[in-house]
Amino acid sequence: MINVTRTFLPPLEEYTRYLQGIWDRVYLTNAGPLVVELENLLKEYLGVRHFFYVNNGTIALQIALKALDIRGEVLTTPFSYVATTSSIVWEGCVPVFVDIDPETLCIDPTLLEAAITPRTQAIMATHVYGNPCNVEAIEEIANRHGLRVIYDAAHAFGTQLNGTSVLNYGDISTLSFHATKLFHTGEGGGIATNDDELAHRISYMRNFGHNGPEAFWGVGVNGKSSELHAAMGLSVFPYVEQLISRRQELSQLYDEQLDGHICRRPLLQPETSKYNCAYYPVVLPSEKVLLTVQNNLNAADIFPRRYFYPSLNTLNYVTSPQPMPVSEDISSRVLCLPLYYDLSDDQVHQITEIMNASL
Ligand SMILES: *Cc1c(COP(=O)(O)O)cnc(C)c1O
Repeated sequence: MINVTRTFLPPLEEYTRYLQGIWDRVYLTNAGPLVVELENLLKEYLGVRHFFYVNNGTIALQIALKALDIRGEVLTTPFSYVATTSSIVWEGCVPVFVDIDPETLCIDPTLLEAAITPRTQAIMATHVYGNPCNVEAIEEIANRHGLRVIYDAAHAFGTQLNGTSVLNYGDISTLSFHATKLFHTGEGGGIATNDDELAHRISYMRNFGHNGPEAFWGVGVNGKSSELHAAMGLSVFPYVEQLISRRQELSQLYDEQLDGHICRRPLLQPETSKYNCAYYPVVLPSEKVLLTVQNNLNAADIFPRRYFYPSLNTLNYVTSPQPMPVSEDISSRVLCLPLYYDLSDDQVHQITEIMNASL
């Protein structure tokens, strides 16, 4: 069976080596030495001023909204994983959808201003499939209207824009280290910011607001991660560049072998200086074609994923649904093809043959 993704696991001994230390110390969580080591390593790799390793990418989004004290309307993309919208709703804010650019599939900055009301406080946009948003246009609008910017960078680990980490844009960026992501710690996530004051708030918020054992800075939540998860991260991290370069090779193979007249690929933001190849999405001519392709692949035990589907403006807990024609159209006919470290060239060939014959 070939699935859309397959978690990369390092040689078992490289993980168990860390376990020995955990057993010796009998210390499993609360900013343990492995959590601190991983946090520092990632901060340096990602090239950001402040970085917090937390227990998942959804709590990272929730803490970002809390740290910025957002309570009103949040302009957001309908084309993302459900956590982007659900975290806004969960924090008692109102998602206001802004449609996507049909080429990059990221939020369309030319539509942002029309959605701004006196209650708008922030923009939460996703670097879709690791492809950076048009961050300059977004920043310009945010500055003009006094809005804060949060990037859901769950897909963008390692992506660079203008020679610097994409996490350096916006007030806060969040990451996910879920087992299906490019870099993972089993479950896990991250919060990046270059703002000292925000970093100060986040450092308390992710640890119940504790200021010493008996004092509290303010309200907080449990965003901490454990030594067991950090050990996974530390043993996966040395392979990150290899994981990215193998994905680049496989993506290029797909590009060469797929019938490009029929499978359209999203356009990369032109200033992207390093793309992490987190996913391999193709936009098919219609949902009917997508279903045919999916059936034919499934019959050969190959399971691509309709990611992202459905468009988030259609969720049943969105109280004032707005039509999002571009996002709804793309969601109905986008498919992520299998892409992972140990996918073989032959398997890509098998997948593209079935696809080309279905089109
Ligand atoms: C995976 C993902 C999340 C959620 O991350 P978890 O670590 O699973 O909580 C949020 N946003 C996007 C775009 C994602 O792909």
